[in-house]
Amino acid sequence: MFWKEKTFEAMSDDEWESLCDGCGRCCVWKFEDADSGEILYTDIRCQLFDDASCRCHDYQHRCNRVSDCMNIRDMEDKYYAWLPGTCAYRLLHEGKPLFDWHPLISGDPASVHQAGISLQHNTVCGEHFSKADIVRHIIDPDGKK
Ligand code: SF4
Ligand code: SF4
Repeated sequence: MFWKEKTFEAMSDDEWESLCDGCGRCCVWKFEDADSGEILYTDIRCQLFDDASCRCHDYQHRCNRVSDCMNIRDMEDKYYAWLPGTCAYRLLHEGKPLFDWHPLISGDPASVHQAGISLQHNTVCGEHFSKADIVRHIIDPDGKK
């Protein structure tokens, strides 16, 4: 249980990457309500997001190919609020434990899908959306669609 013992800085690259549960919730369009500051999630996926595998098509080159994709390891603290409350990086950043369905605890990569947390098979392509359409695609940031 390295995540209980190590800081983010002390983790190896493999340990760091294994914290990602594969939910895909960081790969959909999000907006900040200008009045309340609330982060609004949609089910509209990034152009590189694979809805079937729930993973990035080109993870290695993601930040070069998508200008607003962020490398969480280099991210400023203020941006953690843009991650869902279920995300292991955000949970650990806030001093909270991982959920039982996290693959590191369950031992099963599919447990994030079985728990209804992931967006696998539940996103739509981001082309041809008007502002009015986007409002109809807002989802619960942490729970099921
Ligand atoms: S929200 Fe967090 S746990 Fe989910 S895919 Fe993104 S980085 Fe991984
Ligand atoms: S480039 Fe890849 S990792 Fe970045 S938001 Fe898009 S799908 Fe997600």
